[in-house]
Amino acid sequence: MPGTSEDQDLRRQLPAVDVVLQQAAPLVTRFGHARVGEVIRRQLSLIRAQITAGKRPDIGVEDIISVIETVLIAEDEASLRPVINLTGTVLHTNLGRAVLPEPAVEAVVRAMRAPTNLEYNLDTGARDDRDSHVEGLICELTGAEAATVVNNNAAAVLLVLNTLAEDGEVPVSRGELVEIGGSFRIPEVMERSGCTLVEIGATNRTHLRDYERAINGRTALLMKVHTSNFQVQGFTAAVDEPELAKLAREHDMPFVIDLGSGNLVDFSTLGLPDEPTAAAAIDNGADIITFSGDKLLGGPQCGIVAGRTDLVDRIRRNPLKRALRPDKMTLAALAEVLKLYRNPDRLQQDLPTLKFLTRKPADIEAQAHRLATALRALLPAGYSIEARACHSQIGSGALPVESIASFGLAITADSDAMLRGLARALRSLPRPVVGRLNDGTLWLDLRCLDCEALFIEQCSALVNFQA
Ligand SMILES: *Cc1c(COP(=O)(O)O)cnc(C)c1O
Repeated sequence: MPGTSEDQDLRRQLPAVDVVLQQAAPLVTRFGHARVGEVIRRQLSLIRAQITAGKRPDIGVEDIISVIETVLIAEDEASLRPVINLTGTVLHTNLGRAVLPEPAVEAVVRAMRAPTNLEYNLDTGARDDRDSHVEGLICELTGAEAATVVNNNAAAVLLVLNTLAEDGEVPVSRGELVEIGGSFRIPEVMERSGCTLVEIGATNRTHLRDYERAINGRTALLMKVHTSNFQVQGFTAAVDEPELAKLAREHDMPFVIDLGSGNLVDFSTLGLPDEPTAAAAIDNGADIITFSGDKLLGGPQCGIVAGRTDLVDRIRRNPLKRALRPDKMTLAALAEVLKLYRNPDRLQQDLPTLKFLTRKPADIEAQAHRLATALRALLPAGYSIEARACHSQIGSGALPVESIASFGLAITADSDAMLRGLARALRSLPRPVVGRLNDGTLWLDLRCLDCEALFIEQCSALVNFQA
């Protein structure tokens, strides 16, 4: 009832905007006059609406200032925040993929704090190419003659095809027309790059004769796409890279391989499922390869193009390159990550992605038992926590069929609502914890937990939690 006399009294007692502003001087200094004024106005009209709704909110100047301070601080909280990834997917695209090693983090900070020689040659005093900071390292680690870098591997594929195959045809096996993470589909990227996809073979089998038959005067290049995120099993056939390289050479056209995950070390030596390396692709005769910087490589988001000097030069001169080039922070981080690969013996220690992927199951199991005991003491009645074996995924479309033995906390509850409530409470912790809800169980796979003390400390807040 908007008109009661009690309401009118309360409204009359509401302080004016200017009065609150005057007493909120410290907030005005910190957040600015205009913004504080705007938040006060919003708060006063909220209070008026509450009065109209029959509520009796606090209307003292102090009370109002305390509320607007909370609002101002909350509005300034970073949207992009660190989280604890207990999903069991090591390279989780939605959680930012690779965690970067400390030398890369420091290099990014250095590159941000002061001007850099990004495109400037300190010997000659002349302009230089930004690729110069990473090209040598990429060539050293892949065996390629030349290399350039763009913002991600999707951009790398787009740029390579647009440069080498615009207005031409590109035969690709039907078994390799992949979609990656919803929005990247090879056929669509090919269309946008201006070339025409010629589908050849069948989903499960493609032969050399399929490529031979597809080649004509309009064919621009031969391409192989690594089927990162699925596997065709059973009655299958694909053409080996060396055979395709030979066929491309015979027809005087480039052979391009989109590797997806750019693996630079032999995974079998680390006890991990096999994944083709960039060096092997070059060795097999690829003229150009493309791969991601933030998948198995464990670096910043970027796409690497490596291969023959004449082709890389053409790719670099494409005006689209300007639109797709990475910034100095990415290049600074990438250079440090690549340097770690010069010492493969320390890689497992120094590169977080490989450290997580190769953690010993016994280690994770011991951690699971410790944390199960600690969490059991914290959670209210109605929840049950067990340390249980589970399987982690590599993620980002790498090695889709393979999983790695891991250990985690399997949490169940008296009701689904309680379990979802706990998942929500974990996500609202100061460092949000992201697990995986699966079949009535909340799984916290501990493979990527590298801050156990922080995890336990903040979980003590769960004592008061109500589902
Ligand atoms: C992941 C992937 C891409 C896209 O790479 P982004 O770095 O995510 O842009 C392209 N091709 C293949 C085969 C992939 O696996």
